[in-house]
Amino acid sequence: MPAPSNNKKSKAFAGRESFHRMNYLYQASMMVASKNKHLSCFYGKLCNNISKKTVLRLHPDIKRSLCKKCGLALKPGITARLDLHPENETLFQVECSQCGFKKNFVINEEYNFWLDNPESVVEVIGDGETGKKKDVTVL
Ligand SMILES: [Zn+2]
Repeated sequence: MPAPSNNKKSKAFAGRESFHRMNYLYQASMMVASKNKHLSCFYGKLCNNISKKTVLRLHPDIKRSLCKKCGLALKPGITARLDLHPENETLFQVECSQCGFKKNFVINEEYNFWLDNPESVVEVIGDGETGKKKDVTVL
């Protein structure tokens, strides 16, 4: 039977290595996006695939900054074109420069992410190795 502290640590951060790996791949994808689009696509897709395989969710800001079709890191003016929807001005359109995939977002000033809401924080736990506090949120 494992020691109780070991069990507690592993329960608190299930998928910790996956989060680290997704974070690294996302940062690498953003960094190489302006220089090598194919490599950025590869890193973005890999990040998304790890999220799916480990059943861990990406933050909506991260999810929205990767192209859904090819995985390219969408940087406005560099790898993505931002515009109002041509037919409906309540929609905001982001177009990927690699594959041409268009994503629409509703423009609503009153909309807030659930994650920005203080009620979304269920529990604050400490990191076993660094001692830093982390928020645990429920999506
Ligand atoms: Zn794309």
